[in-house]
Order: sequence, then C-alpha cells, then structure tokens
Amino acid sequence: MKKFIACLLLAALMIGTTACQKGSFGDTYIEGQDQQYMYTDLFYGAQEMTETEEGYYFLYQNYLFFADRETLEVSPLCDNPGCLHEKETDTSKTWKCNAYYFTGIDNFIASWGDSLYIKVESNQMGKRLPKGGLMQVSKDGMEKSIVCEFQELPGSSNALHRGKFYYASKEVDRKLSANYNIHEVDLQNGGSDRILYNGKKESGCIPQLLCYGNHLYFKESYVKDENSYVDVKEINLQTGEITELKPEGEEEAFYLRGVFHDRIYYTSTNSYETGQWDWKYMNLDQSNRQEWFSTPEEQLLYADTRYFYLYTPWVYLADSEKEPSISMLDKDGNQIGNCDLSAIEGDLIDFMPGGEQYFFLISIDDDYLHHYYAVNKEETAKTGQGKPKEFFQPGDIVSSVSDLPL
Ligand SMILES: [Zn+2]
Repeated sequence: MKKFIACLLLAALMIGTTACQKGSFGDTYIEGQDQQYMYTDLFYGAQEMTETEEGYYFLYQNYLFFADRETLEVSPLCDNPGCLHEKETDTSKTWKCNAYYFTGIDNFIASWGDSLYIKVESNQMGKRLPKGGLMQVSKDGMEKSIVCEFQELPGSSNALHRGKFYYASKEVDRKLSANYNIHEVDLQNGGSDRILYNGKKESGCIPQLLCYGNHLYFKESYVKDENSYVDVKEINLQTGEITELKPEGEEEAFYLRGVFHDRIYYTSTNSYETGQWDWKYMNLDQSNRQEWFSTPEEQLLYADTRYFYLYTPWVYLADSEKEPSISMLDKDGNQIGNCDLSAIEGDLIDFMPGGEQYFFLISIDDDYLHHYYAVNKEETAKTGQGKPKEFFQPGDIVSSVSDLPL
C-alpha cells in the first residue's frame, strides 16, 4: 500500500495533463464541448466547479451550490419547501435535500449541453452504487438520472470532453493494481463504456487524464526495479493510436504540465540543482519544440483561454518561509498583473483560472472553514493588481454524511 501511495504522490508531484476528442470538432479548444481545463486542478486532477451560461456550480462537502453569473450570489441548488439544505442535522433526512449528492472523496462536476454531470456513489433515490456512477442533472437541479454505473472504481482524475466521460480505474488488487484501465463512457449512446487503454505494470496507476482537441493525454505511474517512473502517453481519440511523449535531444526527461492554447507545456530537467523549472512547449503533434521561460520550482503553470497564471500550490510551501503568489501573464508569457492576497482569510488552498470574468480562490481559516473569492480579470489586467472579493462562506456543514435509505 505504501508503494501505491508513494506512486500516487510521485505522480502528483510530476504534474501532467491529458486531452481527448471525437470526430468533427477539429483540434482546438471548443467552449461548451471540451474539458474545462480552467476548472481542473492540475495538481490533484479533481474538478469541483463548472461554468455555464447561467453561472457557476460547485460542490462543497456533498452539497451543490450555484453562484449567479452577474451577482455571484450563492444558494444551494434546491427549492424543496421547508428544506434546511446544508443546515440539516438529521442524517436520515440529509440525502433528501435536492442539493445533496453522495460524491465520496473525489469530486467531479462538469457541464455539457443543457446538463450538469456529477460523479456520485448513490442514485437519486438514495441507493448506493457499488462502484459509483455518473449522474445527469438539469441546470435547475430538479431532474436527475444515472447515465452509467462505473465498471471499475474511478480515480480522482476525470474528464468530460465532447460528449464523453473519461476515467481511469483506481481499484488496488493484491498485486498493487497491476492491471488498470482507462474507460470512455459515451453520454450520447446510453452511457456505453469501453476500455481505451490497459496497463499491467507493477504498482501501476493512472493519476491524471487531460483532454484537448483530438487527444487524451495521461500519465502512467509505476515501479520497476524498485525505482518509480512516470510515463506520459497520448491516445488519439479519432484513431485510438497510442503514442508516448518523450524527451528530445539534450532533454533529460519529459514532465507534462498542461495542454493549453493548442500547445503542450512541459519541463524536461529536474530543478534540484538550480531551483528553477525551465518551461518548454510544442505543438500537439509533438513538433516545433521551443524553450520558453524559467520560474522558481514551486510555481505551476495554469491557463484559461486567454491568460496564463503562475500559482504556488500550498503543498510546496508547507515547509518553507515562502508566501503563496498568483501572477497573471499574457499569451507570450509577459507578466501583466498579480493578486493581492493580504485580505485572504487563513491559508490559500485552491486556485482555478476560471472563464471570461473571474479567477477563483479558496482559503481555509483557523476554524477549518472555507472562503470562496472571485478576482475580476479585466480589473487585474487594467490595474496590475487583482483584488479578491469574497462571495461565499459555506459555514460549518453539520452533516455532509447521510444515512442512505437503500
Ligand atoms: Zn435542500
């Protein structure tokens, strides 16, 4: 088990990405169809927030909240009369709140078409699903149905991309997950499930999936001769062909960091000697490799469809004196603004690049309560300094657990 956890941690530290697609969409990002990489945590692979034309939906301790696009006013997505929503203390009633979803540990929510899709461990009647499933939910939260039950327990990294849901199996057998798969669930074809990739390496697992254009990129982490390795591979979603992404020329290694703006971003040398990461990029077909810029090793690259961001996840700061920071860069990598974090309550624990208007921050205070902030991008670009505006403080949720009836 230790080996397996070490494998996951190593893979998480070596950050990566994956991209997927189908048929007639072409090989670039399509809003409304493609994986919302700007809401995906590139460190853990989870997605807890999604954006639609109406606003922002996010999961917090098993409850689904909605923030209005214009006002950012937040409410649980439930209009059951008399319902106490997240304030309910009776665990036999919790699951009846329309905003309650039994999501387990690894949250996933994404929008596609007119619906939201949420990874759940029980159906709408409160019946447990042995390996979980994907629930389709109308945007008002009133209509719910299970699209598919998973054939294998899914890991934390999932992607909804061009009408298909992707997951990698997480189950650990006696051989430490020596047999693992990547599944594709077709939402338009009755939730049919097929296996795109099968791995059999010692202590193997697939810690991250990222879709972009016609590609699904993934990391495969494993142990060989007592050493840990992470390979990066690509599945061409049109042909099914699998290619490994490799270092080239003088490059020592290949660490996939993200796929944005029609390019693959990566680093290739370790940072132990210089304390720096040298960023590089190349085209989606692995051609035209270019060197970009260097950053301190704790900074990770994120992006929306317009800007880049350098953000330091808290795990890199735990043992150092350094403070978290967020910089906003233009497409050429020039810094155009940073974010004033002085008014944030407690410790910053999450950053999401977000859509057109805002990027989002989540902090945790001394009482372990979460605070949600939105930072206006236009203002940040104009003034050079973003001001976080707190729009939600969910309070102490009494019963995120529920006694399911079935
Ligand atoms: Zn409710």
